[in-house]
Amino acid sequence: MAIEYVSTRNKNERAAASEAILQGLAKDGGLYVPTEIPKLDISLNELSKMSYRQIAYEVMKLFLTDFTEEELKNCINSAYDEKFDNPAIAPIKKADGAYFIELFHGKTIAFKDMALSILPHLMITAARKNKVENDIVILTATSGDTGKAALAGFADVKGTRIVVFYPKNGVSEIQERQMVTQTGDNTFVVGIRGNFDQAQTGVKQMFGDEALAKEMADAGFQFSSANSINIGRLVPQIVYYVASYVKLLADGEIAEGEQVNITVPTGNFGNILAAYYAKQMGLPVAKLICASNENKVLYDFFTTGTYDKNRKFILTSSPSMDILISSNLERLIFRIAGEDDGRDRELMSELASAGKYKITPEMREQLSDFYGNFATEDETAEAIRRVYESNDYIMDTHTAVADAVYDKYRRETGDPTKTLIASTASPYKFTRSVMQAIGKDDPQKTDLELTDVLHGISGVAVPPAIEEIKSAAVRHDTVCDVEQMESVVKEFLGI
Ligand SMILES: *Cc1c(COP(=O)(O)O)cnc(C)c1O
Repeated sequence: MAIEYVSTRNKNERAAASEAILQGLAKDGGLYVPTEIPKLDISLNELSKMSYRQIAYEVMKLFLTDFTEEELKNCINSAYDEKFDNPAIAPIKKADGAYFIELFHGKTIAFKDMALSILPHLMITAARKNKVENDIVILTATSGDTGKAALAGFADVKGTRIVVFYPKNGVSEIQERQMVTQTGDNTFVVGIRGNFDQAQTGVKQMFGDEALAKEMADAGFQFSSANSINIGRLVPQIVYYVASYVKLLADGEIAEGEQVNITVPTGNFGNILAAYYAKQMGLPVAKLICASNENKVLYDFFTTGTYDKNRKFILTSSPSMDILISSNLERLIFRIAGEDDGRDRELMSELASAGKYKITPEMREQLSDFYGNFATEDETAEAIRRVYESNDYIMDTHTAVADAVYDKYRRETGDPTKTLIASTASPYKFTRSVMQAIGKDDPQKTDLELTDVLHGISGVAVPPAIEEIKSAAVRHDTVCDVEQMESVVKEFLGI
C-alpha cells in the first residue's frame, strides 16, 4: 500500500508525499504524518555496504512514494555532494564512551543542513509534479540554525522566495552574522523583538490565515515551510540514524541486530522523532534519550505526563534548543493516542488555550522507549570541559547538553548499551560559550576573532562557513515587532 499523509488533527485530510511537502502544515493546523511507518525492506548487512546517498534512497523511497526513482535520486545527488566537507556526509567520532554522529559537515555547520540541503530539491520537484504555477514562499521561524540552513538551501532557487524570522536577542553573534549576510535576491531576513516561540506562533498564524492565502494566490504566491513540521525535513533526518547504525556494523563496533541507544539534544522534537521513526522502521534501537537544556518542558513531560509551557523562557548557551512549544511532539502524541485525530485535536486545543495538557496513563505507557532528562548551564559547560580534557574532543554547547544527559543516564541506570549521540553543531558556531567552558575565553575578542584561538587549541580547521562571514557585507537589517510580521512579509513580496 502506498504511503500517504494525513493531518494529526483530521485523518480525512489526506495528501500524497509531494503535496504534504509543498504545503508544510496541514490546512487545519495539524502536522502531516505517514499513514504507516514503513519497514526497511533491505537487510542492515546490505545497507552497511552502501554509500550515504544509496542509503538515503533506500530510506526515503519508502516514505516519498509518489516520487519516481529518477526524481528522488536526482534530489539526493544534488544534496549530498561536495557541499559537505566530509565524504562520509555524517562521520562518526568515538569519544567519552559514546559514538558522536557529526551532523555538522554541511554548508552552515549545524545538523539542519542534513535536511535543508535536500528540501529545496524535493520542493521544486513536488511543485513540478503538482503543476504549481505560483512562486513558493518559504516562511520560517528560527531559533538560529534552521534560518541559515534554509537560506543557504533556497538562495537563488528559481520559483521560490524565502523569509526568515529570528529572535533579535536570542541567537549567537555568529548565527546572526551568518543570516544577515545571506546573499540571493529571493532571500529576506528579519529580526523580531520577541523570542522563538513568538516567531513560530506568528508564522503558524500566517499559514492558517485563509484571507492572507487568498491575497497571496491572487499575487501568484503560496506559502510553504522549511521548519521541521515539514515531512520533507523529517524524512531525510531518518537517513543518518540508519547510516550511522550500519557504519558501526561495517566497522565491527556492533553485531547485526545489536541494539543501540540514541541520545538527541532536543528542541522542536524533530531530530529525535526521526530517530523514533527509524526505530519503528526496524532499526535496532533500545532507548531514545531526549536531552533538554534548562527549558526542560520535555523532561517534565516524560516524567509527569503533563506538557506545560507556562513557565519562564530561559536564554541558554544552546539557543537552538530554547523552545517551550516542541511542535513535532504532536506527531508522537498522535501516535500514542492510537492515531486518534479527535484526541490529538483536543489536546492541542488545550495547549493553545491553557498552555498545557495531560496525557492518559495508557498513552504514557507507550513512552517507555523514551528517557528524558536535562542539563543545567553549569553541567553543559562541565561536559565540554571534561570531554575536552579527557578525550581532546571539543563539543558544541548543544551536543554537550546531550553528552551531559547521557552521562546522567549512564550513572542512573548502569545501562551498558552502546550509544549514538547526535552531534548537532560545530563548536565553531558557538565559539564564545565553548571557550568559556574550557577556560580560554578572551572578552577582548569578538566571537569571530575567537574562532582563530579555538583553531589553535583544537587543531580542527576553521570551516569555510566561518571564513566566509568574516568579510561578508550585511545585507539584511530589518527588525520588527511580533505584530508586524505579516505586513513585513507583504512588503517584501510587493503586495
Ligand atoms: C535545531 C537544533 C537542535 C534541536 O533539534 P530539534 O529537531 O528542534 O529538536 C539541536 N541542536 C542544534 C545545534 C540545532 O540547530
